[in-house]
Amino acid sequence: MRWSNEEASKQINNLIAAYPQLKMSTPYLDNSEIQLAGSLNINRSAFNYIVQKEYPIEITIPLGNSDLPRVRETGNMIASDYPHRYDDGTLCIETDTSMLLYFIDGFDLVEWIEAFVEPYFFSYEYHSRFGVFPFGERPHHIEGIIDTYKELFHCDNLNQALRLLKYAAEDTYRGHDLCPCCSGKKLRNCHGKQLLPFMTDTRKKDIALSNMQYLRKEFLKIEQSKTNYSSTK
Ligand SMILES: [Zn+2]
Ligand SMILES: [Zn+2]
Repeated sequence: MRWSNEEASKQINNLIAAYPQLKMSTPYLDNSEIQLAGSLNINRSAFNYIVQKEYPIEITIPLGNSDLPRVRETGNMIASDYPHRYDDGTLCIETDTSMLLYFIDGFDLVEWIEAFVEPYFFSYEYHSRFGVFPFGERPHHIEGIIDTYKELFHCDNLNQALRLLKYAAEDTYRGHDLCPCCSGKKLRNCHGKQLLPFMTDTRKKDIALSNMQYLRKEFLKIEQSKTNYSSTK
């Protein structure tokens, strides 16, 4: 997070006030990151299911860059074969794209726990009990980013999503243009509503652009590995 010292203290104080079972475990702001450890009490219900449970966690907040905080579950309460937990215990919460767009007007640590971390644990418990994800699940890596845009753009076709993302990242909105999804309709009568937020807010456009550049790089790597493979045959 790119926080001033003042902003960092405010965020940490608010967090500890809302979650008194969390304590700072690093010397205050001396490091390139802040760590908090303790436990998180989940008391949530949805879809007629209640989760009341305490999870030992550790939160790491990188400072001086735009990386989002990470959470590790330190009590081995999440099954090691659960797909949304990395080997070091870090939780796979949501795509950065989703979280960055959610917090476009400023990141808030307490709200992040409420809106993303608590639902993660609820979702884990619900999935363990019923075998389905109550709020859906995201694939990983580039598929996760693409999936996020499919949802944002209300389309479930890969090529359409990529064309819409490219337009959001690189073009200027013109309602009378043909929609980049290739429906043959004018933009304003098709995906205009979904694209407009990216075209009118440079912060959102920048997120789309950096995702577009990342995807291009990753697609290129995949292409190159295919070429290398066929040339060794
Ligand atoms: Zn995951
Ligand atoms: Zn369209």
